[in-house]
Amino acid sequence: MSYKSPYELENSHELAPSTSENYYPIEVRTISEGFRGAFSTEFIPRGATIARDGGVVVSAIDDVLSDKNYVALIGDGLWLAPRDYERLEPIFFLNHNCASNVARYGGLVYVAKRDIAPGEELTIDYAPLVSGFRDWSFQCLCRSPVCRGTISSHDWENPVVAAQLWPEWLPFIQKKIQARRAQLKSSSSSP
Ligand SMILES: [Zn+2]
Repeated sequence: MSYKSPYELENSHELAPSTSENYYPIEVRTISEGFRGAFSTEFIPRGATIARDGGVVVSAIDDVLSDKNYVALIGDGLWLAPRDYERLEPIFFLNHNCASNVARYGGLVYVAKRDIAPGEELTIDYAPLVSGFRDWSFQCLCRSPVCRGTISSHDWENPVVAAQLWPEWLPFIQKKIQARRAQLKSSSSSP
């Protein structure tokens, strides 16, 4: 059943394409009961564009049910939601990993951060995807040596994480990070 958000923007199609497009084959696989992920079936070289996102642009997500929380921030007060929750596109199944192999640039384009082997799970850092949410966090179990433990919508405020994920933040968050850096600099240099 297709779901229509009351917050869908009239000019949604001007802000984002209505469907996503994959440039490399992505397969959705079940990892454990009730838990799925997106996997590459081909070798993807570092820097390659894997997919371009699409969907419905909404101005609020109050109506998105917790079991249907497939929404991603694409701008200040703008989120991208699936057009049809019953037929989710593979790109919506990217799980979080603190050592992710996929980056999302500018809100819509997914790029390989390193060479990805056939059969490898595609993962992304959720912090830039949720950075405009009021208070959102989860305990990460990725077990990577660089696991941050808690991932939250406030991670951009951490200078180390802000620098590590720099190209992945949306432009309006990058501006906030820069403003914060300038503020810290001026407060540390004042007598
Ligand atoms: Zn982690």
